Amino acid sequence: MPLSLLAVALALLVTLLVQPWIPHTQFLLFYVTVAAAAAVGGLPLAVPTIVLSVLAVELFITGGGGIPVLSAELIARSTMLGGVSLAVAALIDSIWRARAESEQAASSLSEQAVELELRVNESEAMASELEDVNQQLAEQTDAARRGVARAERLQRLTALLLETSGEAPVGSIIVNDVRVVVEAVGAAVVLRRPDESLEIVALEHLSRSLLEPLTVGETPVTRVIRSGEALWFADADGLAHEYPSFAGLAAEQGAWVVLPLTADMRTLGVVLLGFEEGGEFRPEDRSFMMMLAHECAQALERARLYEMSMRARIRAEFAERRLAFLADASARLAESLDYHASLERLARMCVPELADCAVVHLLDDNGAPRLVAAVHDEPRLAALCRALEQTHPTSFAVADLAGVLASGAPSRLDEITDERLHERARDDEHLDWLRSFDLHSQVIAPIVIDGAVGGTIILACGASARTFGKGDVTLLVELGRRAGHAVQNARLYEAAQFASEAKSDFLAVISHELRTPLNAIIGYTDLLLLGIPLDLAEPTRHQVERIRNASDGLLQLVEEVLSFSRIEAGKEDLRVSPLDLSELLRACVSMIEPMAAEKSLELGLDLPDAPIQLVSDERKIRQIVTNLLSNAVKFTEDGGIYVSATADDASIRVDFRDTGIGIPTEHLEHIFDPFWQVEHASTRRFGGTGLGLGVARKLARMLDGQLEVRSELGTGSVFTLLLPIRLPLSQRAPVIRSA
Ligand code: ADP
Repeated sequence: MPLSLLAVALALLVTLLVQPWIPHTQFLLFYVTVAAAAAVGGLPLAVPTIVLSVLAVELFITGGGGIPVLSAELIARSTMLGGVSLAVAALIDSIWRARAESEQAASSLSEQAVELELRVNESEAMASELEDVNQQLAEQTDAARRGVARAERLQRLTALLLETSGEAPVGSIIVNDVRVVVEAVGAAVVLRRPDESLEIVALEHLSRSLLEPLTVGETPVTRVIRSGEALWFADADGLAHEYPSFAGLAAEQGAWVVLPLTADMRTLGVVLLGFEEGGEFRPEDRSFMMMLAHECAQALERARLYEMSMRARIRAEFAERRLAFLADASARLAESLDYHASLERLARMCVPELADCAVVHLLDDNGAPRLVAAVHDEPRLAALCRALEQTHPTSFAVADLAGVLASGAPSRLDEITDERLHERARDDEHLDWLRSFDLHSQVIAPIVIDGAVGGTIILACGASARTFGKGDVTLLVELGRRAGHAVQNARLYEAAQFASEAKSDFLAVISHELRTPLNAIIGYTDLLLLGIPLDLAEPTRHQVERIRNASDGLLQLVEEVLSFSRIEAGKEDLRVSPLDLSELLRACVSMIEPMAAEKSLELGLDLPDAPIQLVSDERKIRQIVTNLLSNAVKFTEDGGIYVSATADDASIRVDFRDTGIGIPTEHLEHIFDPFWQVEHASTRRFGGTGLGLGVARKLARMLDGQLEVRSELGTGSVFTLLLPIRLPLSQRAPVIRSA
C-alpha cells in the first residue's frame, strides 16, 4: 500500500509536471505505474495502485483539485482507467506469474540436473568401485583357484611321500616332483648326519661340485641348518654378494630359497631351490613352499624311523638266527661223545650258513694241529682242501693262525689279496692250491679246551664274496668255546670210563682172588665142624662155628662186590629156566632162620596155595631175596620179618616187611646207590658194603622187574619185588649189559 501510494504520487507528480508540454499523456503514467506495480508486486500491488491512480486522476487531474461530481463521464473515465489498468495489471501479473513459474520450473529443472549429475557422478564412482571390487574378486578367485590347485598338488605329493619309504626315494621325490610343483629349475636335498656333517642326498639340475662347498663353513645352507629358519633370496646377485661361496651356483638361477626340513623340532637338513626369474616371493608362495618342506621333512623322518626299525628288525632276526644256530650247534655237539664226529657235524653246520668253507683242527699231545674236519660248499674244493690239510695241517689258514694259537684271540681278514697269499704260501704249489679257493675273507677262532687253546675253527668265504662282521666273529668264538667244552667233556668221560673200567676190573680180580681162599676156609671149617679129622670139643667148636659164620658173611660180601663189578662191566649174564618161586622163598627164609632166631625175631611166610611158576634166572632172584632178607634181619631188633607173595597171569609180587629201624624218607632213593648207607661209616653199627640194594635193583631190572621200597622211620620197611612170570624172549640174550 505505501509502495502503491508512493508510485501513484510519483506518477501524479510527473503527470502534473509534464502536462503543460504533453497534454495528452494525462493517464499514461498511471498505466505505466499500474503496470510497474503489477510487474513488481503482481495484482496485490496493482489493484491498490489502480484504485489510487483513479482517485488521483479524478481528484487532481480531471477534477482540478476539487471533489469530482459523480457523472457518467467520470464513471466512464474511471472505468476505462481502472479497467484498462486492471487488464494491463492482470496481463502483466499473469506474464510475471508465468515467468516466475517458468523461472521456478527452470530453477527446479537445474536443481534436478545438478542432482542428476551428482547421481551420475555417484554411479560413476560406484561403477569404478565395482570394477575395483570385480578386479579384486577376480584376483581372489584366481588366488583361490591357485590355492585349490596347490592344495591338490600338496595332497598328491603328501600321498606320494606317504607311500615312499627310504631316504633316497624321498630325496628323489623332493628334487623331482616338489621342484616341478613349485616351478623351480634346480633343487637339492642336503641332510644332516649324526656326526653333524652334511650330505647331499639328491640333486637335480644343479652342479654337485658347486653345491659341495655350501655344506661347510658359513653358507645359507649351514645357516638354515643352524637356525631352522628359511632364507629367501629374491635376487641372485645379492645372494652372491652376501655369500661369495654361493656365487658360482647363484649365477645359475635368478632367485633362491633355502628351506629347513624340520621334524619333531629337529632340523634334519635343507631343501635348496633355484628359480629362473628373480623377484620377491609372494607370501602365499612362501607359505606353500614351507608347507611342502614340512611334508618332506615328515616323510624323511618317517623314512629315518622306518630304516631304523628295519635295521633293528634285521639285527633282531640275525641275533635270533645266531642264537638258534648256537642252540642247534650245542645240541649237535652234545649228541655224542665222539668229539671228532661232533666237530665234523659242527663244520657241516657252518657251511653254507656262515661261510663257504669250514676247517677244524685240534692240537695233538705235542701241540701240533691235526685236521678234524674240512667242509666246502663245492665238493671238488672240499676234496682238495682235505687232501692237503691231511698232510699239511693249517695250510688253509690265511689269517693270523699263529696269533690265534698264541693269544687265544680270533683273527679276521676282510680282504684276501694275492700278496697275502704270497706271504702265507710255503711254496709255489701251496700258492696255487690257495689260489684255487678264490678266497675273499677268512676268520679263525680258537677252540678253548680246559682254559687253553686246543684247536681252531677256520671259516672262509670265496665265491659268495661274503665278509665276516663283528657278530660273525663273536658267534664263531662262542662256537669255539662250546666245541672246546664238548671236546673237554668227551675226554673227561673217556677218562672216567677208563677209570671205571679199571676199578671194575680191579674189584673183579680182587673178589675172585678173595673167593678162592675163602672157599677153602669155608670148606675146611665145614670139615672141622663135621668132626674131620676129629671131633671138636667146646669151646673150640663154638669158635670154629663163628669162623664159619664170619666166612659166610665175607663170602656174601665178596659175591656182592663181584656181582657189582660184573654188572658195571656189563658182564653179568642171564640163565633163564623154569622155577618155583614159593619153593625158592621157603628155602631163603629157612636160611636166615638161625640169624632171626639169634635176635628172637618172628619169621612169617605167606604164600598162595598153588606153586608160583616162573621162567626167569633163579640165581639172580635168590641173590635179590637173600639180600633183602639179610638186610631185614640186620636192621630189625624187635618184632619180625614177614614175607608174602601173590601172582597173577603176568607178574608176581613179593613183599618183604620188617619191623626194624626204618629208613628216613629223604634217603629212600639213595639206598639203591652203590656204596651208599644211611649211617655214616664212622657211626655205623651195622656191617655191609652199601652195594647189596644197588645190585638187587639192577638184577631186578635185568629180569624185567622192579624193586621198590616204602618205609617209616622207627616202624619198619617194606621192600617190594615185582617180576614178570615169563622173562620176554628179547631179555634172554646170553649177555645183558647193565641198565
Ligand atoms: P648194606 O646193607 O651192605 O649196607 P645195602 O645196599 O644192602 O647195603 O643197604 C644200603 C643201606 O640201606 C643200608 O646201609 C641201610 O642203611 C639201608 N637199609 C637197607 N635195608 C634196610 C632195612 N630193611 N631197614 C632199614 N634200613 C635198611
